[in-house]
Amino acid sequence: MDFFNIHTHSLVHPESEILAQSPDLFPSDKLPVYTSIGIHPWFLTEENAESQWKALQKQVSHPSVLAIGEGGLDKLKGPDMELQVKILKQQVALSEEKSLPLIIHCVKAFNELIQLKKELRPHQPWIIHGFRGKEALAIDCIRHGFYLSYGEHFQENALKATPQEKLFIESDESEVPVQEIYQSIALVHGIGLQELMESVKKNVKEVFFKA
Ligand SMILES: [Zn+2]
Repeated sequence: MDFFNIHTHSLVHPESEILAQSPDLFPSDKLPVYTSIGIHPWFLTEENAESQWKALQKQVSHPSVLAIGEGGLDKLKGPDMELQVKILKQQVALSEEKSLPLIIHCVKAFNELIQLKKELRPHQPWIIHGFRGKEALAIDCIRHGFYLSYGEHFQENALKATPQEKLFIESDESEVPVQEIYQSIALVHGIGLQELMESVKKNVKEVFFKA
């Protein structure tokens, strides 16, 4: 797992990446080694909320599941905030119950997300995936205990302000090989590629493979 990829939607290196899946599509014909399973706000509706939640509860115990997600809050896409918050809270409860970390999709709803973390005080790690916020937001999220996962596009100053022990790397939907994303992140962070690999690997072990 030299270039571990914590969030992708297409299986390229099954032994070193976590494939994000929807409960209604899981398990796929090609069973992944590692997967995260969650209700994405984009695909959530009033009509399917109950069936997705039931499917998620059923699938979560599959041995390949390392995390809940991606789930989250999106003010630009998806149903009204009330339903998004309700379903996210259910996924938080499941993450706590199953002792699985939570991979979060957040678009223009960081106040709500931070508020929710303060209110629910989860024990499981919360990872904001595809973080593209500015430096001040990165600092605020880290202060509230979030991990930040960076992909192809990011704000350089936000990355620089993210300590190595809170940093993950992902390809998400990008076509860019994760190795290249590691290289550009190492360059901006001002550390060697080897050091970056080691620190992400350590975080992966602590968050996703804790005994
Ligand atoms: Zn994604």
